[in-house]
Amino acid sequence: MIVETRAVVLKTIKYGDSSRIVTLYTKEYGKIKVVAKGARNQKTSKFGSSLEPMSVSSVVLYKKEQRDLHLLSKSEVVMQMTRLQDDPERMFAGLATVELVNMVMHDEEGNAPVYDLLEQTITLINGSERNSVNVFLSFMVKLFHRFGFGLAIGRCSGCGRDPEKEGFPYGLIRLSDGSLICPHCAESSMQGGVRLSGGLLRSLLFLEANPLERAAMLSLSTAMRDELLALLQSYLRYHIDGVRTLRSLALLQSV
Ligand SMILES: [Zn+2]
Repeated sequence: MIVETRAVVLKTIKYGDSSRIVTLYTKEYGKIKVVAKGARNQKTSKFGSSLEPMSVSSVVLYKKEQRDLHLLSKSEVVMQMTRLQDDPERMFAGLATVELVNMVMHDEEGNAPVYDLLEQTITLINGSERNSVNVFLSFMVKLFHRFGFGLAIGRCSGCGRDPEKEGFPYGLIRLSDGSLICPHCAESSMQGGVRLSGGLLRSLLFLEANPLERAAMLSLSTAMRDELLALLQSYLRYHIDGVRTLRSLALLQSV
């Protein structure tokens, strides 16, 4: 079956003398692996830069039934992500996004809302002037909702107090259901969770309440950024088996 779809390139590895195996996240079929014949010969390859990781491309492929490797026949760049390479924060935030999608999505299960979120995230990271890692943080928060285990921190799960109004000095996030426990309830009921300072809680509330496009407006210190990255990864790991620490984020934290 010949199919055409829009795709974000997640990963590419060498295959044989001149080809590549490319992992794509496609709008219609979800995560899919294809062979791109001759893709490593830069002079003669018909694929151009459309198979670079993080590219948004339009692809045509021969999809074989009962197989997990398909044949790529055509691929063209839809949007050039020319700014990702110019800045380490943009590059590693973009790479973390595709690394995460590659890690958590199952093969060949279409999920157009996740595709749209992924494409929008890469586009915004590419266009961001600063705080591009916040776009990745926002992506994670939105992805949790798409998966059905979104954070529920708008109110304390015990007493219903609103953290925005109350200005709590800290809050606890329970990993099992993403709920918030306010200081009053934490002290009266001895409930456990990951402790966030008041400032971090406000930052997380901002990411929850605002669309992806506004994430870069949030200003975070490096320490706060790292704490949020750690929290969101722990949360993901709690809900999905086999989630490893993202390599791209370790690289981001080292620059
Ligand atoms: Zn409470």
